[in-house]
Amino acid sequence: MPRLLVQKFGGTSVRDIERVNAVADRVAASVVGGDRVVVVVSAMAGETDRLEGLGFEVVARPPPREMDVLLSAGEQVSVALLSMALMERGCRARSRLALQIGIRTDGNHTKARIEHIDVEGLNADLAGGVTPVVAGFQGTAPNGDITTFGRGGSDTTAVAIAAALEADECQIYTDVEGVYTADPRIVENARRLDAVTFEEMLELASLGAKVLHSRSVEFVGKYGVPLRVMSSFDEGPGTLITTEETTMEQPLVSGLAYARDEAKLTVLGVPDVPGVASKILGPIGAASIEVDMIVQNTGADGSTDLTFTVRRADYERARETLAGIQKVLGARGIEGDDRIAKVSAVGVGMKSHAGVATRMFDALAAENINIQMISTSEIKISVVVAERYLELAVRAIHDAFGLGDAIAVEDAG
Ligand code: ADP
Ligand code: ASP
Ligand code: MG
Repeated sequence: MPRLLVQKFGGTSVRDIERVNAVADRVAASVVGGDRVVVVVSAMAGETDRLEGLGFEVVARPPPREMDVLLSAGEQVSVALLSMALMERGCRARSRLALQIGIRTDGNHTKARIEHIDVEGLNADLAGGVTPVVAGFQGTAPNGDITTFGRGGSDTTAVAIAAALEADECQIYTDVEGVYTADPRIVENARRLDAVTFEEMLELASLGAKVLHSRSVEFVGKYGVPLRVMSSFDEGPGTLITTEETTMEQPLVSGLAYARDEAKLTVLGVPDVPGVASKILGPIGAASIEVDMIVQNTGADGSTDLTFTVRRADYERARETLAGIQKVLGARGIEGDDRIAKVSAVGVGMKSHAGVATRMFDALAAENINIQMISTSEIKISVVVAERYLELAVRAIHDAFGLGDAIAVEDAG
């Protein structure tokens, strides 16, 4: 039986013409082998950053609608190049932009959600022996405007298309060999996982592991899309994201994630009366600033300090918002730090075990790393530390849970 595959290639996988040709070879091999393939491509490496930079050069706070038109341009280039390379190999390929397919989203610029994908055009391509090469990361709002899904969003295009077409597998080709116990660029002996549960992958992705866009993982849970992360540079089985409950004993911690782009703000010395948190966080929410962790400390004098974290990009706006309400709140002051980072340990095995948090805190204490904030759920523990300790913290926790491959130690004897 020929399979229907969605194959997505990220930025580094199409970073130059040599790589575009290598991707075309791989896709052509699948097609020649008898599979029907829908290809999804990101912009060439660094291109989306470059475009974003241009926007910020023109204006400090670029209008989101125009940013979407600007940022989505990178994918238009790579789909055209890859389609040409496929045609050179005898494949009947056609580049397809979101507007042409009908990738319908809400109107939430720069972080739009996919609401519907029209499958008629894609099915007509496939039925006619055409390989559609789809621009990732972009969609169309109800009013016809271009939208984008947030950085890293091409994964979501791929998984959403795989769900809509009920594909046999969605393959995310990237620059590492799968999902690892931690970012292999930070932890040298990080281990590739053969499989990871959808629940854990969703946590890892939302807590910062950028190997998959977290929205794409949501589709796996909702529609049961078989999803595999693999290398576009090497052969290998990659990592399968599973929706099955395993009966095997699960490790306490399956993997670590980190997020560098965090900031925290503290409102000092507000009278400790009902409604304070909502008076502080209400205006923050109204400014469309997402709040992550929240900690409140009440002092002996009956006043309270409230600390919360936001994305670093929202830090200045959050400070301005707080400065605007400081008087009304009767706050003694406002403090902030935009050089913090969050490290998280994730594992479904935590559900049934105590002591996981302690092991993580001990590992940080042994390295003299101060924990600024803590948050836990059934399957994760997150801590906030100073950004300068981030890499050390990740490695220390990775070691403490024995997550890595054994490193060969040379015999000193
Ligand atoms: P692409 O351009 O292919 O979408 P990304 O840069 O978005 O690639 O994602 C791949 C990167 O994710 C890897 O190069 C790696 O540094 C990073 N990464 C972070 N956490 C992990 C992890 N747990 N496993 C694998 N890669 C990870
Ligand atoms: N090109 C977009 C970005 O750099 C989308 C993606 O790569 O997934 O964020
Ligand atoms: Mg990516």
